[in-house]
Amino acid sequence: MISRRKVIKGISAIPVLGFIGASGIGTAEAMTGLDPIDVKKPSVKRDYFKELGVRTFINAAGTYTALTASLMPKEVIESIHYAGHHYVSLDELQEKVGARIASLLRCEDALVSAGAFSAIVYATAASMAGKDQEKIKQLPDDLRGIKDEIIIQKAHRFGYDRAVRNCGGKLVEVETRQDLEKAVNEKTAMMFFFNDANKRGKIKDKEFVALGKKHNIPTFNDCAADVPPVENLWKYTEMGFDMVAFSGGKGLEGPQSAGLLLGRKDLIEAARLNMPPRANLGRGMKVNKEEVLAMLIALELFLERDHEKQWEIWENEISHIQQSISDIQGITTEMYVPEIANHVPSLRVVFDNSITRHSPRDIKEALVKGIPSIEVANATENELFLTTWMMGKGEEKIVASRLAEELRG
Ligand SMILES: *Cc1c(COP(=O)(O)O)cnc(C)c1O
Repeated sequence: MISRRKVIKGISAIPVLGFIGASGIGTAEAMTGLDPIDVKKPSVKRDYFKELGVRTFINAAGTYTALTASLMPKEVIESIHYAGHHYVSLDELQEKVGARIASLLRCEDALVSAGAFSAIVYATAASMAGKDQEKIKQLPDDLRGIKDEIIIQKAHRFGYDRAVRNCGGKLVEVETRQDLEKAVNEKTAMMFFFNDANKRGKIKDKEFVALGKKHNIPTFNDCAADVPPVENLWKYTEMGFDMVAFSGGKGLEGPQSAGLLLGRKDLIEAARLNMPPRANLGRGMKVNKEEVLAMLIALELFLERDHEKQWEIWENEISHIQQSISDIQGITTEMYVPEIANHVPSLRVVFDNSITRHSPRDIKEALVKGIPSIEVANATENELFLTTWMMGKGEEKIVASRLAEELRG
């Protein structure tokens, strides 16, 4: 946060005429005559969620959208505060933030979308209509003269491919390389890949990219939940995917209603033509200036992080929870790491239902109802899943003791 003291210090440090022409945070604040942060900052004494009766909880689940996914680091919240006190041109901000993101992530261009879902919408719209203003206006219901077929492997179908249909795109399912080559025609707009399904599909990522290049069709990869590892942020554009999407509010810990679309300059430029302020297909997927900036700051922070050390911390937290319940009859635990999406140390608690007093679902419910409330990822007949990934410092101790208490109770 920009404190009043910092602003005043900034003013006194530069000559009066100097600060008028200078750029920088302190200057812009000073020129308004007020310190708007002090004036507008809501009282931190209010407990809004408590006033509303909205439950807050310890997140031992991970980045679930329904559970508001992740918390933004202090620096990211500060950038939201900062942006909230300045007018800018939305296009200029998107362009400059996009260029900065592209240079950080070694790709040609980038934009900040309203989450990964909206990145899919923009990628599809860009592939269908290009930069043709008439075609852009036609989307999604008037498809005369527009390429409207999007090829997808059957094993890659998932809930979010809905975003393609939002543009008027038709999903064409294929299974093999031969199917795909047969499906390609003059109506093919894009080839859609769901990164987490790489193993399930017959055509793997590199071959998919090669087929796109062979037929001159843009390829898109949905990597929404696929950081960590950090290298994934450039791995797939470098592999040759023309566009790649990430969620802003999952592993990147940026605004939950932001995301990244990375890739080829001409396609990102075409994608931008569908964005606000223009009243085109993407008009309802506005990202405000606060979140455009915060997305960049979250990304910078993520890139600067010591990822190896972070991994060790997660492992230690998981093993602390394991140890706290290791002596309970009928309970065994296993640390595991999902291969692509949600690739972080996670814990599987296995119940021998003939010995344990409670089922995993009972335990999950008891944790939600307890004080403090705790959300875990999932409960099946005989398993409970959780991760410390999205938890605050020290919260693993609370989760460990609550879990032990419920399992013993
Ligand atoms: C979460 C997710 C999305 C949607 O992401 P948002 O950022 O919430 O819009 C899309 N695709 C996949 C694979 C996801 O995991």
